[in-house]
Amino acid sequence: MLGLYTKEIGKNLFMVELETGGFKNLICSYVIKGKKPVLVESGPSNSIPNLLSGLKELDVKLEDVEYVAVTHIHLDHGGGAGTLLKSLPNAKVIVHPRGMPHLVDPQRLWPSSQKVLGFVSEIFGKPEPVPKERVIPVTEGTFDLGYGAKLSVIETVGHASHNLSFKESFNGGIFPGDAAGTYLPEFDVVIPTTPPPFYLDAALSSLDKLISLEPTALYFSHFGKANNAIERLKDYKLQLQLWADIAEEGVGKNWSLEQIRDKIVTEDTAMRLVADFVKSHRIYSKTVLENCVRGFIECAKQGS
Ligand SMILES: [Zn+2]
Repeated sequence: MLGLYTKEIGKNLFMVELETGGFKNLICSYVIKGKKPVLVESGPSNSIPNLLSGLKELDVKLEDVEYVAVTHIHLDHGGGAGTLLKSLPNAKVIVHPRGMPHLVDPQRLWPSSQKVLGFVSEIFGKPEPVPKERVIPVTEGTFDLGYGAKLSVIETVGHASHNLSFKESFNGGIFPGDAAGTYLPEFDVVIPTTPPPFYLDAALSSLDKLISLEPTALYFSHFGKANNAIERLKDYKLQLQLWADIAEEGVGKNWSLEQIRDKIVTEDTAMRLVADFVKSHRIYSKTVLENCVRGFIECAKQGS
């Protein structure tokens, strides 16, 4: 069934277009219909009403939802968890232990997000706290989905010190959070998601981990399902290395952020394809062309 907010993308697997702030193809959540429904990503607090409409469209009973697995606590992924849980009386949140304190007490997360994201944080919305007893902190492990299927947790730090990926065994696909970049379905292109503090070496090792699991598909939170998963992960490694090399050269030669950014856009084939789109996009022009470039610059300055 193809609905306003939801789309079937695999066996027992659906995506929900969150249309946060009216932006299409920006952020999505996923629903795995095992014995009990499991969600991956709450998305931001401002689009929880859209997520709830999606669940209704998928005939998911709110009291049946067992887990909300968040890849990390950035506002666009886990920021809405507290708000969402008010509507899901029996659900628990799966999160990396380093992210847990910020879910339970988002007081520091909000001002730091405002500082990094600027006006984008207002589009995402302020996070509400998640009750401590409803959080399951994990770095590795599996959760039973019923019907012989499971959801595996894979620690994939780099984008953040607390990024998790999840693999579902109904189809063999992986939810990488932001560990595998941002997928632009309009162009079938992946671009880096590397705001500061970005950890390049950790990000590359995490990609090796995901490649070794031989995923059949990637379910990007930004945005949607992509095939050729292994090839994409390998390409993303090369892309990160290219950006890192340019940032390192730029830092060594005292280039401005704009000069480094322009060189990246010229030298990265994927970026060249989407440059006009990204430059004119209200959110991506801020997050990709500013924050993600800055992530590499800070990384280069620290000699990481
Ligand atoms: Zn994100």
